Amino acid sequence: MPDTPLPTKTFSIHTLGCKLNFSESSDIARQLKEAGFVLDDHPDFIIVNSCAVTETAVKKARNLVSKLHRQHPEAEIVIFGCYAALEPLIIKQWEGVGAVFGSADKHHAIQYLKGEPLPEAQPFTASFSSGDRTRSFLKVQDGCDYYCSYCTVAKARGGSRSDTIEHVMCQLEKIAELNVKEVILTGVNLADFGKKNGESFYDLLVKIDQSALVPRVRISSVEPNLLYDEIIELVAHSKTIMPHFHIPLQSGSDRILRLMQRRYGRALFQNKIDMIKRQMADAFIAIDIISGFPTESSEDFEDSYNFLAKLPLSFLHVFTYSKRPGTPAAMMKQVKDSVKRERTDRLLLLSEQKKQDFYRQFIGQTRPVLFESDCIDGKMYGFTDNYIKVGIPWREDWANRIVDVMIDQQQTLGHF
Ligand code: SF4
Repeated sequence: MPDTPLPTKTFSIHTLGCKLNFSESSDIARQLKEAGFVLDDHPDFIIVNSCAVTETAVKKARNLVSKLHRQHPEAEIVIFGCYAALEPLIIKQWEGVGAVFGSADKHHAIQYLKGEPLPEAQPFTASFSSGDRTRSFLKVQDGCDYYCSYCTVAKARGGSRSDTIEHVMCQLEKIAELNVKEVILTGVNLADFGKKNGESFYDLLVKIDQSALVPRVRISSVEPNLLYDEIIELVAHSKTIMPHFHIPLQSGSDRILRLMQRRYGRALFQNKIDMIKRQMADAFIAIDIISGFPTESSEDFEDSYNFLAKLPLSFLHVFTYSKRPGTPAAMMKQVKDSVKRERTDRLLLLSEQKKQDFYRQFIGQTRPVLFESDCIDGKMYGFTDNYIKVGIPWREDWANRIVDVMIDQQQTLGHF
């Protein structure tokens, strides 16, 4: 008698938070499909990849889980990610939740869902996203050894660990075979790559640059103190690594940086910006900035604001400080919500001005644009090497291709 085939198991996956989470979710979905699971609107299992970076992210996870449980009362909800690592006992009490895994062992989902015994924890789990034909997020590092006074990410994801250069290159080959044109290197503290196995982020970038396996590589985010001069020089001379920097500065006030337990002062940051612009006048530079950090006085804020206003930055990712229980910053004197909101609004306005100023410099120039494969209301979108978003009427023959395009006002500033 032939064996009766087992019924197909179905799943859905929902991701909150950063690019790293998206990369990991995409990888888990791919592995589940390879194991015979089917992505479906009527799932047996619902996977939620959670984030703990702000109170809002935590609330979003709670609301999402209760909505999913209402919609699919029969499904088992399995939660992963940073928030799951921080508060597993709380999450286990949420209705519909069957299992909770921290960030370090989220890949055990596959074993758990297949009903297999869980393996020993792995020191580093590689992943890359592949849902989108145009670009892929490649995780090369995880965890953090720093102790910034506002952050729970290091606690949630564990200490710094990373892939090896050899294995990253294998992953890149696989991505290149999928005809993906752009890879974004991701990690929690990305430039800490290789620290524990005698390699370095710079060595990884050199290898990637020499291999030219994919046409474009972007570096997702590098701490100011780890953005070594040699990395800037390499990017300046590379045809593969895009002139695009994302630097988590967090404050332009030295007093606040010290309270945040960051490992640099603003002079070091300014030095890095000067060096980037000297070597790559066209480079896109984005920063992360936290508004309303505990004890931030109006003098601290103005000091920080004026410092940022003078620098040739292209974009500010503004985060309103939110208190994370158990952190040193949570014990400090908090800034009033209304003041935090006001400061956030001013920084958002500054960011908008800087973005418009940056874009304006390139009107009339021809730059290479990687177009995405989606047709949205008859249009297609893509990014230049230096991260200017361009939109043009849909042309199928340009989908997932790098094309030289003359930048005009309509194509760029018109979208924002
Ligand atoms: S560098 Fe600081 S803010 Fe970033 S993950 Fe590590 S501890 Fe958190």
